[in-house]
Amino acid sequence: MNRPVIGPDLEKKGNHRNMNMKEYIDQAEADLLHTYNRYQIVLDRGEGVYLYDIEGKKYLDFCAGIAVFALGYHNQEYNDALKGQIDKLIHTSNYYYNVPAVEAARKLKAVSGMDRVFFTNSGAEAIEGALKAARKYAYLKDGSTDHEIIAMEHSFHGRTMGALAVTGNPHYREAFEPLIGNIRFARLNDLESVLEQVSDKTCAILLETIQGEGGVHPAAEEFLRGLRKLCDERDILLILDEIQCGMGRTGYMYAWQRYGVKPDIMTTAKALGCGVPVGAFLMTEHVAVHSLTAGDHGTTYGGNPLACAAVEKVLDLFERNHIIEHVREITPYLEGKLDELAAKYDCIETRRGAGLMQGLVFSCPVAPIINEAVKRGMLLINAGPNIIRFVPPLIISKENVDEMAEILTASLDGLQL
Ligand SMILES: *Cc1c(COP(=O)(O)O)cnc(C)c1O
Repeated sequence: MNRPVIGPDLEKKGNHRNMNMKEYIDQAEADLLHTYNRYQIVLDRGEGVYLYDIEGKKYLDFCAGIAVFALGYHNQEYNDALKGQIDKLIHTSNYYYNVPAVEAARKLKAVSGMDRVFFTNSGAEAIEGALKAARKYAYLKDGSTDHEIIAMEHSFHGRTMGALAVTGNPHYREAFEPLIGNIRFARLNDLESVLEQVSDKTCAILLETIQGEGGVHPAAEEFLRGLRKLCDERDILLILDEIQCGMGRTGYMYAWQRYGVKPDIMTTAKALGCGVPVGAFLMTEHVAVHSLTAGDHGTTYGGNPLACAAVEKVLDLFERNHIIEHVREITPYLEGKLDELAAKYDCIETRRGAGLMQGLVFSCPVAPIINEAVKRGMLLINAGPNIIRFVPPLIISKENVDEMAEILTASLDGLQL
């Protein structure tokens, strides 16, 4: 009998060959599309706020898979919830109901104060849905298809064509034009610049409550209030992208809750599933009734039982482990340590951010600093060329913050900055 050929290497040891780190990296660079300049480490497992590479080296993780792994790695209760769901039912079509999706949606409504949920597989897909809902809302009002959306300069909303169209970074967009049309850009925290772009055709204003990739820029309370008023007066939908800054990161479940400036549509993802790919866009009942309806939107995987079991357990653990309270408690300590560093080093210009979403602004490129930190056993990410972004797991302790500051200090001293 002819057996399918899977290659001699793959037959040796399960599906894994036993290679060293360099060999895995070379193999990855030969097989994967080169869309990332990756750090030269192969990660293997995690425990709390630490990650280990395949050679056993330990890393303090201050980026949490880019603001994803809020509860830390290897949370037994979370893992068990997923395992239980795997043994029951991983996927079923959205043509049927499933219990985890019902429970996850109910919990998500409760923590967000929004009325209707659509589960997606990613952040970008949540943005796509939000844009479609806004366009449909405007279309139902006047039957025309030339509505405009205002987004912010330096924003980041994802890499799909729609999300890219509202991403305020020309460099990301240029090669992929034409994207969806009728997008205008204004400046964050500059209400005048928004007013300049508003017209009778404006159907939505979209922004991150705190810009992440663009450099950790919080939207000011006055600006948010101004936008809310403008939107109310002109029946424009306010869409807040909470994909990075949401899920407790700022000490509020969603960052807008700090000011009570409620959006009409909101997106969430990243920490929502704590590692299982899931996102959502949510809306008020008013928008829901006057926008997307049966047949308008769909997704095969979105809201499947496995993803929703993750959401359900994440929201459950947030509540029972008092994650928001912990973030509020630890934030001043992190801010204090970062301010100390900013005071000590001339190359650090300032700190900004909210909660456990902080940025240190440097007067020099930060890539060498991050590389040095990786060598010394800490993972960090940038937000633009000159900013180090701190988005650790939300469960970090003061000791973890101290350790971060020590490694960063050693890295800066090592580079003689
Ligand atoms: C990461 C991110 C996205 C895109 O999410 P993906 O899951 O990568 O598609 C959108 N908006 C913001 C603010 C983000 O940080």
